[in-house]
Amino acid sequence: MKLWIGCIFMLSAILGGAANVSKTLSQEEKPLVIILMGPPGAGKGTQAKPLSDELEIPHISTGDLFRKQIREQTPLGKTAKIYIDAGKYVPDELVFDMLFTRLSEPDCKKGYILDGFPRNITQARILDKKLDARIKVIYLHVPDSALIERITGRLSCKSCGKTYHTKNNPPKKSLTCDSCSSSLYQREDDKETVLKKRLEEYHTQTSPLLSYYKEKGVLSEVDATNSQETVLHLVLETLQVPARSV
Ligand code: ADP
Ligand code: ADP
Ligand code: ZN
Repeated sequence: MKLWIGCIFMLSAILGGAANVSKTLSQEEKPLVIILMGPPGAGKGTQAKPLSDELEIPHISTGDLFRKQIREQTPLGKTAKIYIDAGKYVPDELVFDMLFTRLSEPDCKKGYILDGFPRNITQARILDKKLDARIKVIYLHVPDSALIERITGRLSCKSCGKTYHTKNNPPKKSLTCDSCSSSLYQREDDKETVLKKRLEEYHTQTSPLLSYYKEKGVLSEVDATNSQETVLHLVLETLQVPARSV
């Protein structure tokens, strides 16, 4: 008799466990995925850093992931560099593995901020298929005319990826990152000729995503011509997050 009761107890524990695994998550239990969209220079990286601190979720930039591969001179980095330096998007199949490996790391469990992905409809559809998450898309709107000055004056940190601007947002010490003291440099693809190609890529491939996410009811637009601080306030307001430290 005791053995039977034991067996029934074990069976129900196993079934209970299995039920837990396949349980559908409530809206609040799902990871929060924030997609920062906008043309090169809109301020995605600039906003992602304080947002990541506020929300305590990591900032995942596909551009930064590629630049790491390039620094490490991996086969992926060597191929990606050819596209990036020409101002073209890297082919989708080279993006997916790199990104989804990063997203499978434990710090992404609660959610993350995506900067630079998705960049076309195929990427957006793959993301939709892979994710069971609360998705919020923030479109940082800046007209092309303001982007040239932002991009050609951008300085980027070699180690942590933080960006500065020669005039609008200079580092405290010349060509040195305030956060990690590494040296700052101008990205090869931030030269004006390459930027023109990147803007073309953005308008043909990425802009259509705005209506894709609008139709899903997850898109919010922020006027990102405002100061960095104002843009951050607007983004937090949109996300309905009370600002702690801004
Ligand atoms: P993205 O990641 O969208 O390409 P960044 O965040 O790197 O853009 O910003 C591009 C450049 O513009 C950087 O030099 C940055 O310091 C500057 N910048 C970012 N936000 C603003 C802003 N609100 N006003 C003026 N300059 C900005
Ligand atoms: P920015 O912030 O200035 O828009 P990123 O750092 O996000 O630039 O990206 C730099 C380059 O890396 C892009 O111009 C593109 O060549 C490549 N890249 C980054 N993300 C993707 C992506 N999701 N799909 C294809 N190419 C990408
Ligand atoms: Zn740094």
